[in-house]
Order: sequence, then C-alpha cells, then structure tokens
Amino acid sequence: MKKQFKTESKKLLDLMINSIYTHKEIFLRELISNASDAEDKLYFRSLTDENVALKREDYEIRIDLDKENRLLTISDNGIGMTAAELEKNLGTIAKSGSSEFKSENDQSPDVSVIGQFGVGFYSAFMVADDVRVCSLAYGETQAYEWRSKGADGFTVTPCDKDTVGTEVILHIKPDTDEEDYSSFLEEYKLRELVRKYSDYIHYPIVTDVETTQKNEDGEETTVTEKQTLNSMVPLWKRPKGEVTDEEFADFYKQKFYDYEAPAKTISYKTEGTATFSALLFIPSHAPYNYYSKEYERGLKLYSNGVLIMDSCKELLPDCFSFVKGIVDSDDVSLNISRETLQHDSQLKLIAKNVEKKIRSELEKMLKNERAEYEKFFKAFGLQIKFGVQSDFGMHAKDLENLLMFRSSETGEMTTLGEYVSRLKEDDKVIYYACSDSVAKIEALPQIDALKSKGKEVLYCTEYVDEFALKTMREFDGHEFVNACTVSDDLTEDEKTEQEKLNADYAEVAKAVKDALGDSVAEVRFSSRLGKHPVTISTQGEISLEMERVLSSMPGADEMGGVKAQSVLEINADHAIAGKLKAVYALTPEKIADYAKVLYAQARLVGGFSVEDPAEAAELVCDIISR
Ligand code: ADP
Repeated sequence: MKKQFKTESKKLLDLMINSIYTHKEIFLRELISNASDAEDKLYFRSLTDENVALKREDYEIRIDLDKENRLLTISDNGIGMTAAELEKNLGTIAKSGSSEFKSENDQSPDVSVIGQFGVGFYSAFMVADDVRVCSLAYGETQAYEWRSKGADGFTVTPCDKDTVGTEVILHIKPDTDEEDYSSFLEEYKLRELVRKYSDYIHYPIVTDVETTQKNEDGEETTVTEKQTLNSMVPLWKRPKGEVTDEEFADFYKQKFYDYEAPAKTISYKTEGTATFSALLFIPSHAPYNYYSKEYERGLKLYSNGVLIMDSCKELLPDCFSFVKGIVDSDDVSLNISRETLQHDSQLKLIAKNVEKKIRSELEKMLKNERAEYEKFFKAFGLQIKFGVQSDFGMHAKDLENLLMFRSSETGEMTTLGEYVSRLKEDDKVIYYACSDSVAKIEALPQIDALKSKGKEVLYCTEYVDEFALKTMREFDGHEFVNACTVSDDLTEDEKTEQEKLNADYAEVAKAVKDALGDSVAEVRFSSRLGKHPVTISTQGEISLEMERVLSSMPGADEMGGVKAQSVLEINADHAIAGKLKAVYALTPEKIADYAKVLYAQARLVGGFSVEDPAEAAELVCDIISR
C-alpha cells in the first residue's frame, strides 16, 4: 500500500528539493555521511555486542554505477534499518534517527555521528526521480525496501538482501538544458565529489574500476579492481611530526589552487572553550584577484572530517583575509542544510582563537624570520593597514606591531617599535611623510628639514597609510605627525626667530596671500627649508595627500569636497625672499605673478598637480623675459 508522507513532510520535501541546498552535487556527501553514520553505529554496537561479526577494517562504503540504466548505488555495511525504521526515519522529514541515537549514547567517545537533522537523505531527490533504499537491519532476517518517486509518497515492501546494511539506489534524472544530471553517472565526477566533500570520512569509500591487462600470452583481459576514493585520515589529524613540509605544501597547492608553496604553514589543535583542529596557510604571494571584489575570504569548515562549508567567512577577520586553510570541529552545530550554521557562538569562539593564532605566528615570523616577514608584508601589508583603519580603529592595537614602513634613517623597512627604540631623549613624536614614491618623498623640502635636525621619518607610499596612522593617533605614547604639517612645536629660540620673521615679512606675506586667495589658508616665511625656496605644508587634520585620496573617491563631490588647509611656506634664507621684498617695494602690482609661480612650484615639488598649468607656464615665461 502506498503511504503518504506526513503532510509537513510533503511541503518540506518540496522546499528542500528546490531551495535548501545550493549545489545539487552535495547529495552524494549526504548519502555518504549517512552510510558512515550507519557504520559508526554498528561499530559502536560491536563494542558491547560480540555477535557483531565485522571488525573495524571490514567497514566500507561502496559506490556502483550502472550507466545504461542510469543507476547510482551507494551501499554500506552499517547497522541497517527495519521496516519500522525505514518508515519512521525516511517517512518523516526532519526525523533524525541519528540525533536520537546520539542523545541515547551521549557518553560514547568512539562514535561521531554526523547526521543530526534528518533532511540530508532527501537531497537525493535533487538528482534522482526514483529512489530505493534496500536495507537489512542488524539482528533481523528480512530486508525491506523503501521506495519513492518524490513528493507523492513512498512504499515499504519486503525485498531480498542477505547482508546487513543499506543500499541506496538512485535513478538519475534525465538531463535538462540547465543541468547535466548524467555527469553523476561518470566515474571521474564521483571521484571528484568524494575528494571534495568526503575525503576524510574514516571508512574507505570504494568503487570497482575496470582495467584491461595483458596476460603472459599477450592477450588482453578485463580486470575489475576495487579502488579507494578517499584518503580517510585528514592531514590535520595526523600527528604533526609525521607530516612533511612537502605534504603540507602539496595539500595547500591542490586545495587552494596555488602554484607556489605557502610562506607559512600553521597546524594546531586546541581543546577547551573551543575544540578544533586547524591547518592554516599564509600564501607566499597575493592571488591576482586579492584586492578585488571577486576574492573570496574564508576557511573551509569541516565537522567530523566532512566538508560543511567551502569558504566560511565568519572564521576569518578581514585583516587576515589572505589566510587559507581549514578548521575541523566536531562541535559546530549545524542547521538543517549543513550549509548555513545555525548557532554561530561556537564559530565565534573558533574565529577568535584563529585570529589570535595568526597574529602571534606573524609576530613570531617578524621576530625570527625577518626577510620572510618583509616579503609577506610586501604582499599583504596593505590588508593589515586596512585592518588598522577599519571599524574606527577597533583592531588597531592588535595589529600595530605588525606594521612596517620604510625609514629615512635606515633606508630599510622598520616597525613602529624599532622607530621608537631609536628616538632620542627629547623626541616625542613619530614623523611620517606621504607621497606615491620614496623618491618623491625624499624630494620634499620638509624631509630635508627634519633630517638636518636628526629626525627619522617614516615613508608612507600607499594611500591607506596616513588613514591608518591617523586612526591609531599614537604608538606607545608617541603621536604620529605628518612631516608636512606646519609645526608649532618649536623651541624657545625657534619661536623668537619665527616671530621676528613674521614681523619682517608681514606685508609681503599678506600680498602673496591676497594673490593666491582661497588656494592657501596662510603664507609664512620660515628658516627651516635649507636649500629649497618654497613648500606647501598643511594645518589641521587633513593633509594634502588625504585631500587627494578623499576627493578621488566616488561621491566626493556630493560631500562638498574635502579641503586641506594649505600653508605656503617661503624660505626666508633663500634669495627668493629678498627678491619678493624688492618686487613688493618697487612694483607691488607684480607680486601676484611671483606668488602664483612659487605656489605652482611648491605643488609640483610636493607631488601634486598645478591647478592652472597654462597660467603658471605663461607666468614663468613672462618673468624670465622681464
Ligand atoms: P540525518 O542524517 O541528518 O539524520 P537523513 O534524512 O539523512 O537525516 O536521514 C534520516 C535518518 O535515516 C538518519 O538519521 C538515520 O537514522 C536513517 N538513515 C539514513 N540513511 C541510512 C543508512 N544508510 N543506514 C542506516 N540508517 C540510515
């Protein structure tokens, strides 16, 4: 007699087939996991029941193909199901025998049961239009077959099967325009799926492969050979000393599609608040799409050796998005689809632990393998700086020791800690300067000025640099100061001198400022520029570099534009200062021409574009011809 699925099951089945799983191919993972669970159960039974004849090594999961009849069979020699269990377990969706088994046998350390939610089985209907489950339960003599063609119901009838266990026989759907169902009848495809999803199932998953061999007389014969498709023991569960660097590297290259070995392999296990094994890799170079939207951040998440999620974002913080790897935890709670994780508190604990581990490994690398670290920083430093700046600097403190900048003092990359260790007694601040290349920064008059005073400057050549430093504000109690901001942090002598210059040049400075209008906030004469005639510095929080970055961002115009407060600084010790005074005294109406040329020059040297290049060029020519 045909039985109806319980009504809620009907709806669920429909929902399930059409929406819970995003990839049809995962049906194989689900059926293999069920088979593995069933074998675990019988094995568990054998620990207390000496009538179980099977030994640990006898358990296996078989995959058989019958292309002609479009049949794919997954069989196990696990515990099997009685007629009542077939009806109960497969007749009600979301009825999980496994979870009942688990709660009854909660003390069992030897059994790790994957199924918990009672829907995995139905994923078979995503690829099959007729499903038969033929099962002989342990301790029974009569086998039964559960059969269903989908939502309209199922039958349970006696059948022939004389070995304990279950066979799930799928009749694969005909191909459609969108879906090549026939591929699930191809050996290579199944091999690939087993490797992808079920490689670490701890029973062999076997299939028969036919090969032709020549016998002694040179005649060809067909031989059937049993092959194991899965590797069973996950690399990360093998004792650490047993796995060679090469094995780790091969695993990495194969799983994460890289042609180069990783820069660093981190393999560890923890127990306690979060119990899991992790195998993490720091790539030796950035993937071509790393800094683009296509790049997918995340770690592979396994539970009991079964792949749950290919790329679990929640496990990796953004600042370490370059890390590849896997986390295997037996205690992540899974929701019905195993594709979305229901309670992520466990995940959060794991993520926190992973983040800490990556950070401490990077710090170790910086300390012990400097050259390697610098190479790493070249590839991924940008991401770390983004991390410092993101979320209003929430992670800055955690990341500050990983930062590096090129130093004016050593010409090499230096950490903030190293910079601070070189500070002289009276030095309080950390100087930095920004432009798009080291050469351009070194051409800045302000750098000469600071260098001549014996100060070290950090060179910031990436646009995020200054934002990151501004977010941090200080390191180890030392404030970050842009070398190109006008400094009011003067000694008493310098103050007196500056006041004198201000008085001396008051009128000329005002005339120059009037000529330049809103382009500059102030014009001042100073005596710190050495051989350079002019430069542009800024006042306040926004530097010219920041102005440039912010105004090039989408939507900047609507925000009304961000303006730096520029200060045109003219070198009072340079001949140009005397010249300006003379021009102002004799032909005050000409001072504007000089002002504009000097302003253009200061912008050019600072690495910025000239606002009106035609006018500036004309003025230069004009002045030369005078
Ligand atoms: P889950 O595996 O999440 O519990 P399923 O829908 O995949 O849910 O399976 C429902 C139940 O059917 C399982 O919990 C198990 O008790 C039973 N079952 C499924 N496949 C097998 C099998 N191959 N051998 C024995 N029992 C099985």
